[in-house]
Amino acid sequence: MSEIIDGKNLAKEIRESLKVEANKLKEKGIIPHLSVIMVGDDDASKVYVRNKSRACEEIGIEFKEYLLPNDTKQEELISLIEKLNKDKNVNGILLQSPIPKPLDIQEAFNTIDPKKDVDGFNPYNVGNLCIGQDGFIPCTPYGIMKMFEKYNIEIDGRKVAIIGRSNIVGKPMAQCMLAKNATVTICHSRTRELKKELKDADIIISAAGKRNMVTEDMVKDGVVIIDVGMNRNDEGKLCGDVDFEKLKEKASYITPVPGGVGPMTIAMLMSNVIKATKEQNNIK
Ligand code: NDP
Repeated sequence: MSEIIDGKNLAKEIRESLKVEANKLKEKGIIPHLSVIMVGDDDASKVYVRNKSRACEEIGIEFKEYLLPNDTKQEELISLIEKLNKDKNVNGILLQSPIPKPLDIQEAFNTIDPKKDVDGFNPYNVGNLCIGQDGFIPCTPYGIMKMFEKYNIEIDGRKVAIIGRSNIVGKPMAQCMLAKNATVTICHSRTRELKKELKDADIIISAAGKRNMVTEDMVKDGVVIIDVGMNRNDEGKLCGDVDFEKLKEKASYITPVPGGVGPMTIAMLMSNVIKATKEQNNIK
């Protein structure tokens, strides 16, 4: 029987402490500000942006949303980012993904001022993470590292298998784990023997976006399972990548979906906005 990692509660604790920090900034006349750009009308994105806006409101972060139409041109998107880069009142800039196909999201991430890049997707921050320098860590891996810290789960020297190699989750997750001295294996759709890789792992982090991807027969007893996936089951309910009901009997720790990684991602975004605000105002 495993311990269920309560991401919802940990995220609440983090938001409470950020509220205190935001109040201290307010006393100095500084109101942190996050600008979010959304292009098109992706339904899931609308929900994520709404949740981010609520978290900002709770903590005392000013939130502004830029809704751009589906047929937005690349130059228009870049020019909005450049405008926000220059705006002294804007501390953090986030471009909600996905954006419509013809647009080049990486060029847009490259344009965000690294000091305002609260998602940590600008190559400057990606590079900082790789070489162990301070910068903005992408919110999902950052939130997962906080879970390990809170639950005192050992990483040093352990074997970690990550399913997924996206720039948003898989790759930065691998860097975070490497920085804590794990032996990391990154699995993806071309991995030949996924089951073998997983069976060998002390820690599995699944970010494939495929329900029932990780089943009981694929893992060893006492494994730690972090489920990043967000999928819908046949009843339309949110579920992760792993067979939670079976695996919770076998794992030592496991995250639920919902209530695991999701709320932590938003909490760490808020943390990055406060960090950006403090750094831009030379506050330690
Ligand atoms: P991507 O689609 O960009 O990446 C998915 C990765 O999974 C790819 O690297 C892909 O391999 C790999 N993959 C897919 N199928 C298999 C398979 N059968 N075997 C092995 N590897 C496979 O997704 P993201 O990284 O953006 O997100 C992953 C999941 O996490 C999604 O469900 C997303 O909704 C969720 N998510 C949740 C967040 C949260 O806060 N809870 C935040 C961000 C994402 P390949 O590269 O070869 O195609």
